Amino acid sequence: MRINERQLAQVDAQIKRLIASDNYYGRKYKELGITGVASEEDFLKLPFSSKDDLRNAYPLGIQAVPDEEVVRIHSSSGTTGKPVIIPYTQKDVDDWSTMFARCYETAGITNKDRIQITPGYGLWTAGIGFQLGCEKLGAMAIPMGPGNTEKQLQMMMDLKSTVITATSSYALLLSEEINRRGIKDKIFLKKGVIGSERWSDKMRKNIREGLGIELFDIYGLTEIYGPGIGINCPGETAMHYWDDFLYIEILDPKTGEPVEDGEEGEIVITTLVKEGAPLIRFRTHDISRIVPEPCNCEKCKKYPRIDIIKGRSDDMFKVHGVNMFPSQVEEILAMVDGVSSEYNINIAHDDDNNKDVILVTCEAEGRVSFEEAGKRIRELFKSRIGVTPKITVVPVGTLPRSEKKTKRVIDHRE
Ligand code: ZN
Repeated sequence: MRINERQLAQVDAQIKRLIASDNYYGRKYKELGITGVASEEDFLKLPFSSKDDLRNAYPLGIQAVPDEEVVRIHSSSGTTGKPVIIPYTQKDVDDWSTMFARCYETAGITNKDRIQITPGYGLWTAGIGFQLGCEKLGAMAIPMGPGNTEKQLQMMMDLKSTVITATSSYALLLSEEINRRGIKDKIFLKKGVIGSERWSDKMRKNIREGLGIELFDIYGLTEIYGPGIGINCPGETAMHYWDDFLYIEILDPKTGEPVEDGEEGEIVITTLVKEGAPLIRFRTHDISRIVPEPCNCEKCKKYPRIDIIKGRSDDMFKVHGVNMFPSQVEEILAMVDGVSSEYNINIAHDDDNNKDVILVTCEAEGRVSFEEAGKRIRELFKSRIGVTPKITVVPVGTLPRSEKKTKRVIDHRE
């Protein structure tokens, strides 16, 4: 998706504002001699921004407006290192609520709906974002926050909530609890808006059928407003995103070069009108692709689309030119009876035949035929990913267990 004239002018204005503010990025641009952008070529030469920058600028080094214009901060912690602080102006908060309300509308949610909000409130952008959009839309917010399933279900029944917003794992828990208690006929939910990282097809099916609702994937990250920057519309999986607020590029995560529309790569986001902490070419590490086919619905078809998030670029590996993720391997193993979730993958290059060789080792219980299980797994790799690995099946307990994140992909080509 190429940057258009309007977006280019907005990026140019952002760069000039950053330089004038003398914030972390303003100083960086000055050092690099960047004064603005006049063409796509200029834009593609701009340096990337990253979570590491935000950590280096902790706590408020990326603030690009005077203190009196900042109305709040949000923070994301991540699993390692210092947290990241993002300052917001009132306009940023308003823009976020506009985008979020648009998400709800795209999902067919109206001001007659009652939205039960289960993501957490606080420093992070989850609960408060779902609430902002809900109030902007004019629907009734039921601001529960996470946990306390007993009270959650009571409110859901008494207030006849029609929409549940949750992480995929909490939606699944609620669904199982409702069915365990046999109270499904007292539940009035019609839709679920799920803000989460990648979740499997199996999980989607379980939640959808368990609660009898239509599910929507909402996209967002704290560094770029929060959740609410994209959502799918009914009957579709790809997510619209709001290109009047954001410009999205899909880049090859290794080279940083743009890929063709429709090809997979890393989502890189530029905020077009953000004031408190504008980010230009921010690397999300989320993998998706532009969906070039226009959407069927009249209302949202002007907004471009990305596919549901496939995984993180940090986990991606490439075999025979095909991008693969550990998550895909896990999904395949979960489909085969008697096979455990443990596995490892060795990848090497066969110089004689000039092709990549991939060897998957996984475990099966003694009651199943290892040969049959291996055959089934190989078929699934072929049909779902498009590669044919060699499969070795070993007894359960053979592969090493580790308390830390086990290194499952061993690439001998590097
Ligand atoms: Zn649509």
